[in-house]
Amino acid sequence: MGTIQQLIEISRHYGGDPAYVIAGGGNTSFKDDQRIWIKASGIPLAGIGESGFVSLSRKKLGEIEENSYPEDSVLREEQVISDMQRAIISPENLRPSVETSLHNLIDYAYIVHTHPTIINAVMCANDAQQEVEERFGSDALYVEYTDPGYILFRKLQAEIRTYRQRYGAEPKIIFLQNHGIFVGANSTAEVKDIYRSIESRIREGKDLELLPGKMEGYQSELSSIVSDHYASRNLVSKAFRSPLSDHFSSSRNQYQKISRPFTPDIIVYCKSSYLFLKKGVKGNVAEKRLREFEKTSGYYPKVIVEENGGLIILEESEKSIRTVLEVFTDMMKISYLSEQFGGPHFMTKEQINFIDNWEVENYRRSVAKG
Ligand SMILES: [Zn+2]
Repeated sequence: MGTIQQLIEISRHYGGDPAYVIAGGGNTSFKDDQRIWIKASGIPLAGIGESGFVSLSRKKLGEIEENSYPEDSVLREEQVISDMQRAIISPENLRPSVETSLHNLIDYAYIVHTHPTIINAVMCANDAQQEVEERFGSDALYVEYTDPGYILFRKLQAEIRTYRQRYGAEPKIIFLQNHGIFVGANSTAEVKDIYRSIESRIREGKDLELLPGKMEGYQSELSSIVSDHYASRNLVSKAFRSPLSDHFSSSRNQYQKISRPFTPDIIVYCKSSYLFLKKGVKGNVAEKRLREFEKTSGYYPKVIVEENGGLIILEESEKSIRTVLEVFTDMMKISYLSEQFGGPHFMTKEQINFIDNWEVENYRRSVAKG
C-alpha cells in the first residue's frame, strides 16, 4: 500500500532534479479508491511537504467527466475549475493542479507528470510520433498536441479507452507532444524504474551530449541600452552567454531554431515571442526595435538574443530573471537535442494563442511570482 510519505519522497526526487523539473512545472499524485492527493497549482515539487497537496473526492471528479460543458472555451474552463474546486476535500484555499483530471483518469496509485529535457527533445521534434512508435511500441501511448484543460482531458480519456481495448492494460507511459510525459505505477519504485528505462530507450543509438560550458554573465553595449531603456519602468535586465547560447545567437538562421515556444510552460515563463537584434545595432535603432516589439506583442521582451552575444533577460525582479533564464536555457537544450529526432517542432500560432488567453496559466504565473 502506498502512503502520502512516498508521494512526498518521489515528488522531491524529481522536483529537485532540473533535468526533470524546472520552475513550477510538473505535478504528482497519489490515489486510493475514494480520494486523490495532488500537488497544488503554483507550488514547486522540490521541497514540497504534505501541505503542498490538495485532496479531492474522486467521485466528484468523476462527475466532471460525465458533465457537459459550454463550447466557449473561457466559459467552459471557468465551470470546470469551479466544479473541481467543489471536489476538494481539503484544504479549500489551494487550487489543485490544472492537470488533476488527467491524473484521476489513469488507473495507477502514483502518477508523476514531468517535462524532462531529454523526453521533450523527442516530444518537440518533427519525428516525435515515429520515434515513440519505434522505441516504445505498445509500452506507451502517444497523444498529439491538444490545448490543455478540458479539451486535453477529453482527448486523453478517449485515447486511454482505446489503449485499454487494444492491449487489455492501463498505459504506464503517456507521451504528450509539445508538452511532456505522464508515468503511472502502483509503487514509487516502479515509477522510477520506468523513468530510467524511458531515458535509456531514448538514448539508444543517439548521441545526446550537450555543448559543454556554463552560462556566464556578460556585458555589451546592447545590454546597457536595454537596461537604460527600461530602468524607468522598474524592470531589471541581465545578460548571459554560454556555448549553447552562442550556438543559437551566431546568426538569424540559427536563432530561428529557438524563436518560438515548444511547450505551454515556456509561454508561462518566457512568453511566446522573443527579440533577435543584430550585432552592433545602433542605440536609437535598438530602442526603436524594442518599442516595435512591445507594440506588436503587447508585452516587453523577456528574452532578447544578441547576435554573436548572448541572452539579455528582462524581468520585474532578479528572482524572475533566474526563472526565465532557466526555462529558456532548457528550451535551447530541447532545440539542440531535437536535431537528433528530425529537428525542432514548435507550437502553432493557434496553440500559442490559446495559452496566451488562458486564465489558468495566468494564475500559475502569479503564484510563481509570489
Ligand atoms: Zn504539464
